[in-house]
Amino acid sequence: MKELDQLKAWIAESSNIVFFGGAGVSTESGIPDFRSVDGLYNQQYDYPPETIISHSFYKRNPEEFYRFYKSRMIFREARPNAAHRALARLEEAGKLKAVITQNIDGLHQAAGSREVLELHGSVHRNYCTRCGEFYGLDAVMAQEGVPRCRCGGIIKPDVVLYEEGLDQKTMEKAVYYIGHADVLIIGGTSLTVYPAAGLIHYYHGNKLVLVNKSVTPMDSQADLVVSGKIGEIFARIAETEE
Ligand code: NAD
Repeated sequence: MKELDQLKAWIAESSNIVFFGGAGVSTESGIPDFRSVDGLYNQQYDYPPETIISHSFYKRNPEEFYRFYKSRMIFREARPNAAHRALARLEEAGKLKAVITQNIDGLHQAAGSREVLELHGSVHRNYCTRCGEFYGLDAVMAQEGVPRCRCGGIIKPDVVLYEEGLDQKTMEKAVYYIGHADVLIIGGTSLTVYPAAGLIHYYHGNKLVLVNKSVTPMDSQADLVVSGKIGEIFARIAETEE
């Protein structure tokens, strides 16, 4: 594929690559995204997922929130795929500066990536809303229904729900990395969830690459569009890097 060869060449030449990804990066690890045909938004529930995973719904109905969250958004058996692994290797080789992700699954860190900016938080961090005590995912999953702290307070995942703001420091770092990147690879995101999707506008270079299995609203603005499954594409990139 001509496009893949171009991407390989840009990766080979650069030591200032930044990756910005979304749910599509983890579908090949068995975690459904939101907007694909087999994604969460196309399955049937009593409420639309956007409603359940909103701040107001969480406050109003934590039982239903946690029922959905634990059964549909936590995939403890998921392991990093070739895309996560290749990105970690590129960082290790001094070529990639940061992974900026909208994912909450922790798979980039599991693959060995160190500079990971989690725009939407992580299921692996959880806090008591009363006393602030920290809990890992095990503690949340071990309890039936709404998880409670030793103090009696409700434990909330450190995940950005709809209606909640993004962490300002994380956003600023993401803007910095993207603003200074030589090659920006954007993969597995529909680029429809703001403000994260707006980050693309901070890139000033001429090597903006979109990797997706379907078209995105930004395809026309990219310097290179590589169509296909991101795990398979990065597996082929990793072959060349070896
Ligand atoms: P999205 O569901 O809106 O879009 C996913 C995109 O990835 C689509 O464009 C789809 O075509 C593409 N895609 C799916 N599988 C792919 C593959 N194997 N290779 C290449 N492309 C693939 O996801 P989004 O843009 O990240 O935004 C939705 C929100 O979903 C984010 O805020 C994120 O927090 C949340 N989310 C996270 C996870 C996770 O942590 N793994 C899972 C579901 C949703």
